Amino acid sequence: MNAYRVLQELGISAVVESHAVEVEQAELRDWRGRLLISIPLGRLSREWGLKTLVCRRSTLQMALASGLSPDQLLLGWEVRCLRNLSRHVVVENTNREILTTDLVAGCDGIRGVCRQYVTSDTEPIYSGSICWRGIVATDDTSFVPVHTMVERLGPGMRFGVAWNESGRLGWYLTKTGPAGGHDERHNLPERLASLVGDWQPEVGRVIASTPADAILRTDLMDLSTPRRLHRGGIMLLGDAAHAMLPNLGQGGASALEDATNLARHLAEAPNRETALIWHEQDRWRRVRFKQFLSRGYGIFNQRPERWQCSVRDFVLRCLPNGITGRAYRHWVAGSEITFRGR
Ligand SMILES: Cc1cc2nc3c(=O)[nH]c(=O)nc-3n(C[C@H](O)[C@H](O)[C@H](O)COP(=O)(O)OP(=O)(O)OC[C@H]3O[C@@H](n4cnc5c(N)ncnc54)[C@H](O)[C@@H]3O)c2cc1C
Repeated sequence: MNAYRVLQELGISAVVESHAVEVEQAELRDWRGRLLISIPLGRLSREWGLKTLVCRRSTLQMALASGLSPDQLLLGWEVRCLRNLSRHVVVENTNREILTTDLVAGCDGIRGVCRQYVTSDTEPIYSGSICWRGIVATDDTSFVPVHTMVERLGPGMRFGVAWNESGRLGWYLTKTGPAGGHDERHNLPERLASLVGDWQPEVGRVIASTPADAILRTDLMDLSTPRRLHRGGIMLLGDAAHAMLPNLGQGGASALEDATNLARHLAEAPNRETALIWHEQDRWRRVRFKQFLSRGYGIFNQRPERWQCSVRDFVLRCLPNGITGRAYRHWVAGSEITFRGR
C-alpha cells in the first residue's frame, strides 16, 4: 500500500493496476491449511484509498520507465567506479566512458559499487533461509481464489502463493538451510515438492507443475543500515542503503519511498547537503524498523520444531480481530511521506 501511494503520486498507479492483480484478502494458514489470521485488505483499501497489488517486477519497471522520455533512460551503462570532486561526482563505466553529475542516487542493489564507495560495512547478513520462487500457468482458482494471497507456515518452511496476473500463479517456498547451495535442474520441481510431502496436497501439486527453468533460488540476506547513507554527492537508496528480508514485502516498496522522499527534499532544501541530511533523518528510523520486523517475522514464523509451530499457531489464532489490521496500518502502510513535487 505504501508503494501504491508513491505510484499514485508519480501518476502511474493506473498503468501498474492494469497489469496487476489486486489482493483483497491476505491469509496466514498452518501447513495443513487451517486458517490462523486473515487480513481484509479489500476493506482496508476502501477505507484508506490505497491498494495492495501483485505484479511481476517487469510490469513495475515498464510502468516506471513509461514516465521517462527515451533520452532520460540510459540502459546497459555498467558503472565501474565513482568519485567525488568538490562540487560534482564523476562516474565511469566499464567502457571507460565518463559522466559528470551533481548527484548520484546509488540504487545498485545489495552488492553494488555505490555501497562500497559510501561505507565500509558492505557484507550482506545471511538470514539462514533459502527461498525458491516460481510462476505456474494455470486457470485453476480452486486452491487460491484470484484476489487472495496465502502464506502457509510449516516446520522450518513457509509457502506463499498469489496470482500475479490472470492465469499465472506465483509462489515462493522458504526453508531453513545453509547459504551458497546450487540446484540441479533435473527433477527440481519434484524434489522441491517432496519437501512439503505431508502438507496440504495442493502445495506440492503447484510446485511440481512449475517448469524447472521458471524456478529461481535465492539465499535471503539483508544489510545493516548505517546512520550516514551518503558520501559527498553519492546517496544510497533502496537495497544498497537498507536491504531487508522479503518477509513483509517491503524492500521494493521502501526503495520507492526513498526516491520520492529524496526528490521532495532536493526540491525544498536550500542546498544539496541539507537535502541529503534531511533525507537520512527521515528514512533511518523507518527502514531500520522494517528491517527489524522483517527479521522477526521470519524467526517467529519459521520455527523448526513441530511443538514450536503448535505454540506459534495457537498464539496467532488467539490474536483478537482488528489487531492485525491495525498493526498492518502502523507497520506497513503508515508512512508520512507526501510528495509535493517540484
Ligand atoms: C524473494 C524476494 C521477494 C521479494 N518480494 C518483495 C515484495 O513482495 N515487495 C517488495 O516491495 N519487495 C520485495 N523484495 C525486495 C525487492 O526485490 C528489493 O528490495 C528491490 O528489488 C530493491 O530495489 P533496488 O532498485 O534498490 O535494487 P535492485 O532491485 O537490486 O536493483 C539494482 C539494479 O542495479 C543494477 N546494477 C548493479 N550494479 C550496477 C552497476 N555497477 N552499474 C549499473 N547498474 C548496476 C542491477 O543490474 C539492478 O538492475 C523481494 C526480494 C526477494 C529476494
